Amino acid sequence: MLHIGCHLSSSKGFAAMGRQALELEADTFQFFTRNPRGSRAKDLDAADAAALVQLMAEHRFAPIIAHAPYTLNLCGESEGNREFARETMADDLRRLEHVPGQYYNFHPGSHVGQGVETGIDLIAQGLNAILTPDLHTTVLLETMAGKGSEVGSRFEELRAILDRVELSAKMGVCLDTCHVSDGGYDIIRDLDGVLEEFDRILGLNRLKAVHLNDSKNPPGSRKDRHACIGQGEIGLEALARVVRHPALRDLPFCLETPNELPGYRREIALMREQAEL
Ligand code: FE
Ligand code: FE
Ligand code: ZN
Repeated sequence: MLHIGCHLSSSKGFAAMGRQALELEADTFQFFTRNPRGSRAKDLDAADAAALVQLMAEHRFAPIIAHAPYTLNLCGESEGNREFARETMADDLRRLEHVPGQYYNFHPGSHVGQGVETGIDLIAQGLNAILTPDLHTTVLLETMAGKGSEVGSRFEELRAILDRVELSAKMGVCLDTCHVSDGGYDIIRDLDGVLEEFDRILGLNRLKAVHLNDSKNPPGSRKDRHACIGQGEIGLEALARVVRHPALRDLPFCLETPNELPGYRREIALMREQAEL
């Protein structure tokens, strides 16, 4: 069975997200660990986290994805900026130990004119400062669209980061369909070729989750504007091939489409239907 869910608001806590997912007939979901600007997180409620762990076990959820605030930048220009990113991510990972065995996805960063090599180095240094051998969370690098000075729109850049991370067994990759298409990988006409390239450079065993989004822009546009399933340039057929692909179909898929809950419910049902065809 397809594992699919959507991005949910974390404002009512962990267990509430689990119940919300069930109402949408999802068996995974994603949430921001704190507001996207990266400010202070609420005090962690251990009983609430335990309730989610129990709900997920009872309903056989696939792993869920905690998403770091997208404003964090491990390769920012000032040390203060980088330190803030490291400390926030380390705090998120400490909290996630209450929901062990899940994923923590983050945007590798923007090199802001320092160059992609420096960016890659700083990202790896940041991860080396954060990762610990006893961590129960797998940290995912998200494939990026390549807008501005984003690092991680080429599989080679993600490879270079992984190569410099000491505890690289704690790391994986989350493939965002909108981002890879915007980044120039032709998942519309040549999904097999893109996945072969992913396998050659990163190894498909590194691929832990998929962000399932259509794109408002054509392949290679480097824009990063998500569209609802079937309403963008990627289209329903190509996204259906993604969820049906033998190399992908057992992964958790997470919608980040511009929807409210009823729209998410429809897209979850639609993709479940498409997965069976
Ligand atoms: Fe993201
Ligand atoms: Fe994404
Ligand atoms: Zn995006």
